[in-house]
Parts: sequence; structure tokens; C-alpha cells
Amino acid sequence: MSNNKKSSKVSGFYKIPVKDRIDFVKNFSGLTEEESSLFSSCLEMKTADRMIENVITTFELPLGVAVNFLINGKDYLIPMATEESSVVAAASNAAKIARIKGGFKTEHSKPLMIGQIQLLNVYDAAGAAQSIIKHKKQLLNLANMQDKILVDLGGGAKDLEVRILDSPLGKMIVTHIIVDVRDAMGANAVNTMCEALAPLIEEITGGKVRLKILSNLADKRIVKAKAVFDKTKMGGEKVVDAFIESYTLAAVDPYRAATHNKGIMNGIDSLIIATGNDFRAIESGAHAYAARNGQYTSLTRYYKDKNGDLVGEIEIPMAVGIVGGASNMHPKAKLCKKIIGIKSSQELAEVAASLGLAQNFAAVFALSTVGIQKGHMSLHAKNIAVMAGATGDLIDKIADQIVKEGKVKLDRAKEILAEVK
Ligand code: NAD
Repeated sequence: MSNNKKSSKVSGFYKIPVKDRIDFVKNFSGLTEEESSLFSSCLEMKTADRMIENVITTFELPLGVAVNFLINGKDYLIPMATEESSVVAAASNAAKIARIKGGFKTEHSKPLMIGQIQLLNVYDAAGAAQSIIKHKKQLLNLANMQDKILVDLGGGAKDLEVRILDSPLGKMIVTHIIVDVRDAMGANAVNTMCEALAPLIEEITGGKVRLKILSNLADKRIVKAKAVFDKTKMGGEKVVDAFIESYTLAAVDPYRAATHNKGIMNGIDSLIIATGNDFRAIESGAHAYAARNGQYTSLTRYYKDKNGDLVGEIEIPMAVGIVGGASNMHPKAKLCKKIIGIKSSQELAEVAASLGLAQNFAAVFALSTVGIQKGHMSLHAKNIAVMAGATGDLIDKIADQIVKEGKVKLDRAKEILAEVK
């Protein structure tokens, strides 16, 4: 294993014992003894019982770190909680290739979330919409009275938009409040504001407010990441061409785009879970954004630059927080934030977008060359060996054998186990 000081570039990380991996992370991220002792602990029952209802136990996922990430010139180790094999390795490998040409470069919008207030029973929709706009200042002030902390931090309700929608129930007026949520994911903050505005909107318009809730289509909270993948490292310009051919199906076909975007979320969700964020919010935002032009399509884009290298880009909504929700309550989520070393929700968004791009590059690269199964097979074979009843050293022995034979099947694993026994 080689490790330059404070560099996340590591070779053979997977080969070293878990204890040495923990030491590496501890040194890289400056963790205290107390913090690193959390690696061998589980979520306490009293914490779990405060987080959700009817708790009877906790549920563990493996948590690994992706290495090699260079984002905006800074090295990152990225914690990833996932049940899927090959995901962490694939991300690390893609980040290694991206490093050759300078790593990931990102940009982000302000952390603006949208809250919706649905108004019904209005006879003059255009007049009601105008009345809401006329009271914009008063409505924004009322919203901001709900969250002094957010306002003191420079956030709060910043703008208001009104939409008139046709529906089977007649015209509906939907007021959007645009809230700068700073370092929070923002759902609670925005929902509280929406609820506070409802009576005033009813008073102004004479209508009836029904829904008052955040929108997960966070299309004003966008992050972009870009990387150049070296053609030589990829295996030459023909491989770059094959990559672009494979990617193009996702650009034009929703059936492929769904799987393509799932690959992006393999990476992003793992980080979102590790940092105690709401992965359903990120998922729904991502997929709704992917369909924003009327047809569901890829969240990434690839093309060749003038050198023949592959350029990859991702653009995705990213409603993540580093304060509030479970991110402050779950001890390992707090630890994961320290491992990454993030200072703001926007930095976490940048890391998430870079990880999503890396994950997507790795999947399409494998699909364009050796196919996805080769990478998946060795860990999958171990699962099959366990399912066949192997324990201890026999797991690796049987897994190696079925991979060598090209028969990663339960019946063959059972046969070999019976022979060995
Ligand atoms: P929160 O209410 O726990 O924390 C946000 C609050 O923290 C802010 O309102 C502010 O008062 C305070 N704060 C302190 N320091 C801050 C800083 N630096 N930046 C911003 N705020 C700061 O959490 P939240 O982010 O409003 O809500 C997130 C939770 O809501 C998640 O657990 C999510 O699962 C849940 N949720 C989601 C949805 C949805 O996605 N549709 C709906 C309801 C609830």
C-alpha cells in the first residue's frame, strides 16, 4: 500500500487488514481515539428509539471508504454504506483514472429548496395569484419569522412564485416559497414555513389551502461535476468510442436511462446513507430532474475532447444537509462527515455529485469492455458459497473454484462443498 501524506490515492487498500484500513482513515481524517472507537460499535438502542417509532433492533450495512478522490484539488476519502458488492471498488477505480487529468471539478447553486402551498376553491385564479404576488413581502416576512436561526445564518425565505394549474378539480393555485436552507437538508424548515403561510394565503384569496409541503424536485439546488478520463488508461480511443456508444443509449432511451441512473445512485445513495441524509429525497429529486424535459434521460453526459480523452459531466439536484435530521443524531453519520472533512452542505453535494459521476463512469466502462459481471463475480461467488452452506476458509475456496470454472451457480457450489466435505 502506498500513501502520500494527506493523499487519498492508495493502491491495494482492499488487500490490507481492516485494522490497518481504520488506522489509515484515522490518520487521514484526524480522528480522535474516541471517534475511531466508533468503528467497532453499533447504534445504541436509546438513540435508535429516539429516531423512529416501534424500534425493536438496529440494522447494519457494511460501510467502506472509496479512495483516490481528488475534487477541486482536495483529496477525499468517501464513506459509503451499501449492501452491493463492487460499488466501492468501482468508484475508487474510476477516481484513480480521473486523477490523471486533475480529478473532479464542481460547481453548485445556492442551497435553495422549494415549498409548495396548494390553494383550491378560487373563482378568479388569475386575480388570486396576483393578490398573492402583491403580498409577497408580507408572506416572506411571515415565513422568516418561523426560523430565526436560519435567517441569522444568511438563509431563509428569499422569493415567492405562483403557478396556476389545470386539474380535474378545476384550477389550482400553487404558491412556491424559495428558501435558502444553508447547511440543512431543509424539509422541516420549509414545511414549517409553508404551514405558517397557509392561513394568510387563505385570507388574501378567500380560497382553501390543502397541501403545505416541501417539493423534492429540488431544481434550484443543483450541483454539477466534471472529469476527464484519460484515453490511454481506458485502453485507447477505441474504448472511448465504445464508451460513448454505450452511454448514448441512456441519452435516448428511458429503459436504459433508468439503469444508467441507478448506477449513479449506487454511489450517491451510499454516501447519503453514511452521512445520515434522506436518500429517498435525493432519489426522487434525481429521477424527477432526469425527466424534466418531458422524457426521462441520463443524468450524466459524455463526449470526447480534442485530445480524444473522455469528458464526463453530471448535473443533479442535491438536497443534502450536514446539520439537522439524522445527520446530527447518528454517531456514525457524524463520524462519516468528519472522515470526509466537509464544511458545508454544498461541499457534501459536490462530493456526492463527483461520486455519482465516478460510479457511472465505472459501470459504463465495464459494460463497454469486459461486461459488468466480471467485476461483480468474485464477491457474488462468495455469497453463493455461503448460500451453499460453506463456512470459514471453505467460503473462499469454493468461491475461487466456481469463478475458475465459470460456473458461479448455487448447484455447482453445493456439489463442490459436498466433494470437499
Ligand atoms: P432540522 O429541522 O432538523 O434542522 C434544520 C434547522 O437547523 C434549521 O431550520 C435551522 O433552524 C437549524 N440550523 C442550525 N444550524 C444551521 C445551519 N448551519 N444551516 C441551516 N440550518 C441550521 O432538519 P431539516 O433539514 O429542516 O429537515 C430534514 C429532515 O426532514 C430529514 O430527516 C428528512 O428525512 C425529513 N423530512 C423530509 C421530507 C421530504 O423530503 N419530503 C418531508 C418531511 C421531513
